[in-house]
Amino acid sequence: MKIQIITLFPEMFDKVLNSSMMWKAQNCKAVEFRIINLRDFGLGPRKQVDDTPYGGGDGMLLMPEPLFAAINDAKQYDSTSKIILLTPRGERWKQATAQTWSDSHNGYVFVCGRYEGVDERILTLIDQQVSVGDYVLTGGELPAMTVIDSIVRLIPGVLGGEMSSAIESFSDGETLEFPQYTRPEVFNDLEVPKVLLSGNHAEIAKWRAENSLKSKT
Ligand code: SAH
Repeated sequence: MKIQIITLFPEMFDKVLNSSMMWKAQNCKAVEFRIINLRDFGLGPRKQVDDTPYGGGDGMLLMPEPLFAAINDAKQYDSTSKIILLTPRGERWKQATAQTWSDSHNGYVFVCGRYEGVDERILTLIDQQVSVGDYVLTGGELPAMTVIDSIVRLIPGVLGGEMSSAIESFSDGETLEFPQYTRPEVFNDLEVPKVLLSGNHAEIAKWRAENSLKSKT
């Protein structure tokens, strides 16, 4: 899967995409990341990418020309890709969507807004708008990382055990994972529930089912 990211802050992705599971996913060729610096498509000698909003108001907006050029560059690199805008206005990101996207055969381009957001006309190039929740962040980079991580870890072969994502929170859309324990058996007088030490798989499964929570939404 080819994942491209359009951002004014490419360096934010270095550590996150090159550590742990995201590194492993690249290493086993499950995913290829390409970071596109929006500044490279900026206008004039100062590589301008933002300007003040028509009609007045605080802050700056990302201008359409650099975004159009960057998105076209991404589409040329991977014509199968879906173009995603991170925005608080978007559809709320969910585990079920992460699963669907991880199963898909197309690539994705994530467009990270900054400042007050983007010129509305770029929506003509956007296939889907995604929000990570009902709060406002400074830029689309953290949302992009969140969404990418949740997709890539579900690509078969990326997580250690194939089953490890099947038994996780939200994998059925609503259940949250049961409590888990590791060694030692007693820590600061806090004991691991006896049933988990019993070796009785049926009892353990029953305990886990009883102790799984239903999510709030
Ligand atoms: N003025 C905008 C917020 C801009 S925040 C408003 O009131 O809606 C700057 C950028 O951060 C946005 O363009 C978007 O790309 C990103 N962003 C902020 N919060 C986000 C969220 N909850 N989900 C996805 N992207 C978000």
